[in-house]
Amino acid sequence: MNDQRWDAVVVGAGPAGSIAALVLARGGARVALVDKASFPRDKACGDLIGPRGVQVLAELGVHVPDAGQGADLLAIGPSGRACRLPAFPGHTYASHGVVVPRLAFDHALREAAITAGAAPVRARITAVDASADGTVRTVIASDGRRLATDVVIGADGALSPVARLTGMLDPAAALWGFAIRAYLPAEVPLPLLVLLDASPWRIYPGYGWLFPGADGQANVGIGVGMGTSRRQVSLRDDLARFCAMLARRGDLGPGVRPGAVTGGWLRMGGSGTPPAAANVLLAGDAAGLINPLQGEGIAPAMVSARLAAEAVLAHPANPGARYTDALAGLFGRYLPGAAALQSALLSRPRATSAGVRLLTAPVVRRLVAGTWSLYWNGLVEGAQPRPSTWTAGLVQRLAGHLAERPGHVHGG
Ligand SMILES: Cc1cc2nc3c(=O)[nH]c(=O)nc-3n(C[C@H](O)[C@H](O)[C@H](O)COP(=O)(O)OP(=O)(O)OC[C@H]3O[C@@H](n4cnc5c(N)ncnc54)[C@H](O)[C@@H]3O)c2cc1C
Repeated sequence: MNDQRWDAVVVGAGPAGSIAALVLARGGARVALVDKASFPRDKACGDLIGPRGVQVLAELGVHVPDAGQGADLLAIGPSGRACRLPAFPGHTYASHGVVVPRLAFDHALREAAITAGAAPVRARITAVDASADGTVRTVIASDGRRLATDVVIGADGALSPVARLTGMLDPAAALWGFAIRAYLPAEVPLPLLVLLDASPWRIYPGYGWLFPGADGQANVGIGVGMGTSRRQVSLRDDLARFCAMLARRGDLGPGVRPGAVTGGWLRMGGSGTPPAAANVLLAGDAAGLINPLQGEGIAPAMVSARLAAEAVLAHPANPGARYTDALAGLFGRYLPGAAALQSALLSRPRATSAGVRLLTAPVVRRLVAGTWSLYWNGLVEGAQPRPSTWTAGLVQRLAGHLAERPGHVHGG
């Protein structure tokens, strides 16, 4: 391993890393897929993979053992009323999502990458050797192993050691979130996203969810937006209160309690890092690509990783510029505005509580459902023409203006 030179070293074998390694290996590159964990490994997640992710899997011909398909979502407001957000097929995404426990999902993707020819390496990357212009020539593991490479893809999650070691991460410019989840027995006909109040008429700075799962084990969780702070938070009491609320609504049976709770950080809105510098490309959470409005990160991870790998195959000497452009084309009109909108909403808890009550009120909810669904889920780009595509595009443009005002978190 020490003597070998790689065309690309991919750090992290989550959805981003495995898709990047798979595309690179199929393109003929010599690629190492490095992760500190032994697989199969679990990852705190709601396990819901959105329509853009389903499309990537279909286009790459990767099969995953899904526990069911989900199309529409139920968004529940603080009044307890629900708005059913319809799923539409897009030109560039599927008409539905899938549910796959991450233990199985990440394992299946990593196996597909290895089958395609990627070399699995179990190592924790703790250092890099870079030249003065920032070009990384070698990534170095905690046990001293050195992997020489032409290109590095950092797919190592929201806290991205690669971004930190290469000086690409500015934590104070990042939009952070934290979320926890647990499994519990429940039959869930439609995924629920619950925008609840923290106290009467003051919105909770995040949302709770109850998603269907494998073998009757639903996924319940709660997450909060933290702005630019990454202080420790405990959400266990909030999760317990949320479960009690779900039980009162009849979504959970009496006496049903969550199992083991795990959590993780989210970096959202394309914030905290540039997507690329010198020969280092960041994909997925490492590039902060989580949707700031509903916390989806798996599909952006896979989509960005594929773009990164394609840029490396097309322009091995300078993939960064091409990757940055491709990412901006797909997410650039959505993420900065969604990040600014999230900050604006969380800084006005009373107005936001009132606004969500209005959106979920009878009549109004029927009028806004399509627009809400397309905009909130980041599905305007690649949508098919319909009235809600137009209105969601308008919301996206308005939110984009918010992002141009001074004082909000900027992406890289
Ligand atoms: C509680 C919770 C619920 C969520 N629910 C959803 C959901 O329902 N749907 C959705 O789309 N998104 C959800 N997300 C977001 C989603 O989990 C992430 O966006 C997704 O995992 C990003 O994939 P990734 O490949 O970029 O990173 P990760 O999945 O985090 O993978 C990073 C990998 O890098 C490895 N690694 C890290 N450091 C090193 C190192 N130094 N050396 C070697 N390897 C390293 C890790 O072991 C890990 O395997 C949720 C997040 C949380 C926290």
